[in-house]
Amino acid sequence: MAQYDYLVVGAGLFGAIFAHEANKRGKKVLVIDKRDHLAGNIYTKEVEGINVHVYGAHIFHTSNEEVWNYVNQFAKFNRYTNSPIAYYKGQVYNMPFNMNTFSKLWPEVRTPAEAKAKIEAERAKVAVENPKNLEEQALSLGGKEIYEIFVKGYTQKQWGRPCTELPAFIIKRLPFRFTYDNNYFNDDYQGIPIGGYTQIVEKMLDGIEVRLNTDFLENREEYENIADKIVYTGMIDQYYDYKLGTLEYRSLRFETEVLDEENFQGNAVVNYEEYEIPYTRIIEHKHFEFGTQPKTVITREYPATWHKGDEPYYAMNDDKNNALYAQYKKLADDEGKVIFGGRLGLYKYFDMDDTVAAALHCVKKELD
Ligand code: FAD
Ligand code: UDP
Repeated sequence: MAQYDYLVVGAGLFGAIFAHEANKRGKKVLVIDKRDHLAGNIYTKEVEGINVHVYGAHIFHTSNEEVWNYVNQFAKFNRYTNSPIAYYKGQVYNMPFNMNTFSKLWPEVRTPAEAKAKIEAERAKVAVENPKNLEEQALSLGGKEIYEIFVKGYTQKQWGRPCTELPAFIIKRLPFRFTYDNNYFNDDYQGIPIGGYTQIVEKMLDGIEVRLNTDFLENREEYENIADKIVYTGMIDQYYDYKLGTLEYRSLRFETEVLDEENFQGNAVVNYEEYEIPYTRIIEHKHFEFGTQPKTVITREYPATWHKGDEPYYAMNDDKNNALYAQYKKLADDEGKVIFGGRLGLYKYFDMDDTVAAALHCVKKELD
């Protein structure tokens, strides 16, 4: 018998939920992570009294009541509603697309009927049936002007590819509505955990053995047989030493600054739509928790080409990569001992609520 029932590779949200639930059921669990901190990409750390989202803005939103109740066991969530500002050629607009955006873009538009008529006319010029890629999806949603101002530049810099070579689903989640409602999400529940995200993972892993600065792949011999089963939340292709090929990812570079002023941009998230501006957004962290500290912390988010060894922030879920992932999944399905989970193990563009739902599903299947 091995020393542990489960080895969980990755102390991010998925790994932490699995470890917590296994521990609760009396299993002996060891968690390892190659980073020097818990919580994976939802890690937040305090700087100048402000909870900084170290790996980019994280807003919790869901319509899944089970997921919402689950995370509320570990933190109290505030009333934050994401309503980004979009900056384009010296003008500011509201995102996502709503009556505030339309009336700023076309000052003659005041009512929903006027906005609908205007957009219908715009769409008629570029009508696309059954959009096959992101460009066609955006054009069929709002026409050329909206596409060119709000989608084209931002998306091409975010993904490093023309919109014609990207899957439509990436922007399907952006609301498009005819009310004066700037809420970025349509979900029933939304908020930021008061005091940051790290506490959630700390509470989940309370009483569980954790080894940080520990890379499974660099210590494979030691860790492969340390437990009866392994829950692996790192990259699935890397686990298999890329033997079927390399999956593509998109990386990011974060540039964080402390500024000696109270309020830099008046909003947590400002998107920079122009392709020529190399970052996609500036986050001002204090506004996630309505902070009034004398200083402020901002982060510029620069999209980056991913090379082996870089942080793989986003899976590139196009047809080519999904097909390669399906081959890796076949290998994974034949494993008796290893269960893959999380954004990297399942190669999916998961939001936190999807990650929680997937982890709870895995718990039910494996432990109940
Ligand atoms: P991760 O957090 O990536 O955790 C995996 C862990 O495994 C990492 O800590 C890693 O170090 C570790 N690991 C990997 N390989 C090894 C190895 N070989 N050995 C040891 N450890 C290893 N979701 C939202 O709901 N709202 C948002 O606003 C939002 N914004 C986002 C913004 C950005 C820039 C990004 C990148 C994601 C965003 N998300 C958002 C998604 C959210 O971050 C994920 O859903 C969630 O963090 C996934 O958790 P995970 O445990 O699957 O992965
Ligand atoms: N997007 C855009 N303009 C914007 C914001 C988003 O074109 O101002 C597109 C872009 O393609 C992006 C996608 O919508 O990748 C999803 O954006 P979201 O902010 O939801 O994604 P995140 O990067 O936070 O996962």
